[in-house]
Amino acid sequence: MIINIHYGEIALKGQNRSFFEDALVRNTHAVLPNHKVQKLYGRLLIEAEEKDLELISTKLKKTFGIEWFSNSYKLERDQEKIGQFALDYLKQNSFSGSIRVETNRVDKSFEINSMEFSKQVGAILFNAGFKVNLSKPDQTIYIELLENFALVYFEKIPGPGGLPVGVSGRVLCLLSGGIDSPVAALMMMKRGCIVDFLHFYAYSSAEEVKNSKMNRLLQILKEYQPREFKTYFAPYHQFYEATMSIQSKQELILFRRFILKVAEELAKQNNSLGLVTGDNLGQVASQTLDNLFTTSQATSLPLYRPLIGFDKREIINLAKKYGTYEASIEEYKDCCSLVSIKHPDTKTKVDDLEKLEEEIKIKEIIDKTLNSIS
Ligand code: ATP
Ligand code: MG
Repeated sequence: MIINIHYGEIALKGQNRSFFEDALVRNTHAVLPNHKVQKLYGRLLIEAEEKDLELISTKLKKTFGIEWFSNSYKLERDQEKIGQFALDYLKQNSFSGSIRVETNRVDKSFEINSMEFSKQVGAILFNAGFKVNLSKPDQTIYIELLENFALVYFEKIPGPGGLPVGVSGRVLCLLSGGIDSPVAALMMMKRGCIVDFLHFYAYSSAEEVKNSKMNRLLQILKEYQPREFKTYFAPYHQFYEATMSIQSKQELILFRRFILKVAEELAKQNNSLGLVTGDNLGQVASQTLDNLFTTSQATSLPLYRPLIGFDKREIINLAKKYGTYEASIEEYKDCCSLVSIKHPDTKTKVDDLEKLEEEIKIKEIIDKTLNSIS
């Protein structure tokens, strides 16, 4: 069996094409270390045994850059043989619906064009009693005519689309235990970013967090990211202690600004080109346009909020689709829930926030926190 991988969007990248292709080859190889990945005429081919197909399929569905793939049969470029093969296949599967044959002649020097080849294979099936329906068939028989052989398949399995992780550069995601930020991280991976993670915890030690659901969440995210990335766990208590005395309605936004300031320092150390949050406009009090503004002012790095325009329902659907939802809704001692009970101000002002930050000596808190990251 040959797994035939197609990568729509990358093919459009002109001169950078081989850079994108090589990244996809590298990532595919990283998730399937025991298989050879061959690049051929704008597709990747992997030889595989039947017993491995399911596992391979699971991995490819999580490899960004893949538009679709198929489990294909390698045959001679002979319409008679292909027609007979398709016939046997359909009979074996007790198929009785309508069919269509779709040929893609990749090797233009092959003497029969795509349309004619489809017709001839279709005729064999038609003569054996199958109905042909060109507009809405129950089953399409796909044929790709490559230079030395043909690939025949019956199903296109959708991949996750997007660009291969690594082609865009590195960003740092502020990862909470919630539903949104893991999805935000995935959106950035989907556009080719390597995503590092920074999580603030309210536990008494980093060990406790590492044994919590955060670990599960990170494992799920890792499956989409076959590249080296960093994970930072930062304690929240230094900030918490410093703000206990101030009892401010602005505390939540102070916290948001604080985590971005810590993130900025780490991002600079790693040449990250931006920070990522799961913020969404208007979802909670900290996410009014005013508060997103004052939060953004805390850092000079680009701040990416890929979920800004989604409804909660849409985000939940994405979390389910990518598989992070279950881990996200597991119970967790989240530091944000400690802060947010204090009815946050929906219209904070940068001047006020900066004054408060001076009062609590935010720079010292940032330094202390950076020193206790693990
Ligand atoms: P999420 O589901 O991602 O927690 P949310 O809708 O609950 O998002 P908030 O809790 O207000 O929103 O958090 C907004 C963003 O701030 C999060 O998406 C995340 O990027 C960041 N953030 C919140 N809490 C933490 C934390 N403990 N550690 C790191 N980042 C955090
Ligand atoms: Mg949250």
